[in-house]
Amino acid sequence: MSSTQKTSVRFAPSPNGYLHLGHAFSAFFAYDKAGQAGSDFILRIEDIDTNRCNKTLEQQIYKDLEWIGIKWETPVRRQSDHWDDYRTALNKLDRLNLLYPCFCTRKDIKEEVDRSLSAPHGPEGIIYPGLCKNLSKETRAKKIEAGLPYTLRLDLEKALKHINKPLYWFDEEKGKQEAHPHEIGDAVLMRKDIPTSYHLSVVVDDHLQGITHVTRGEDLFYATHMHRVLQELLGYEPPLYHHHRLITDKNGKRFAKRNQSLSIKTLRENGYTPDDVKRMIESSPTSIL
Ligand code: GLU
Repeated sequence: MSSTQKTSVRFAPSPNGYLHLGHAFSAFFAYDKAGQAGSDFILRIEDIDTNRCNKTLEQQIYKDLEWIGIKWETPVRRQSDHWDDYRTALNKLDRLNLLYPCFCTRKDIKEEVDRSLSAPHGPEGIIYPGLCKNLSKETRAKKIEAGLPYTLRLDLEKALKHINKPLYWFDEEKGKQEAHPHEIGDAVLMRKDIPTSYHLSVVVDDHLQGITHVTRGEDLFYATHMHRVLQELLGYEPPLYHHHRLITDKNGKRFAKRNQSLSIKTLRENGYTPDDVKRMIESSPTSIL
């Protein structure tokens, strides 16, 4: 980042459930960082998962953030409005010959892993065992022609050969980090149902929005290993990172949408104030990952 570049910090929730105290903590973390640095505070709606995300939940995010006193730049970028940006990035990677179609279902992958003696696991679960990696051009063409749905995966081995140098990032919490993307393996960059994936769209958006500081929970620390690879392949400058601690409830359980953790909406409807929310966050224990 050059010293004259405007700094931007972002908070990037997904409207697939109600925001909870963990989100509020993350939002305040980014907001305070932006405030201290005199940076723009960017809110981005990460709604590529069109089956689980919806506009009502998106509106709820605005309401909740406004209520806890957070203000953001407008217009807000909504990922589902920008499929073309992700297609452009995919085309670029495809021109470098670094993508391959994968026709596997979850079941195919599980069966292959069960058959093999070692099944390496990474933070995203099973590391893809490469079933579709070496299919011939003809087989791929036939399957596509037959209408079989497919994802596009990054051929990590080829990608790293193409980059041909170690990759690093600077993490404000942990210092200089070397990227070890093998823990993720051949990541899906285009899902079967949408022309992107979490890894691709986050990297593209952070670049297009000029994000200079990525703050997010340490549960996403692993993702940065892959994001560095994608940034390098796409010719993007890496931002600074700060993976912050995660907070838990009194029982040490991490807040999560799937646990139906106490939402900001429920707190508001039950007469709590934004100051109560802040106090609850401050008194929340830290999660041990
Ligand atoms: N949308 C992601 C989430 O809600 C955050 C993505 C990111 O910060 O990189 O967990």
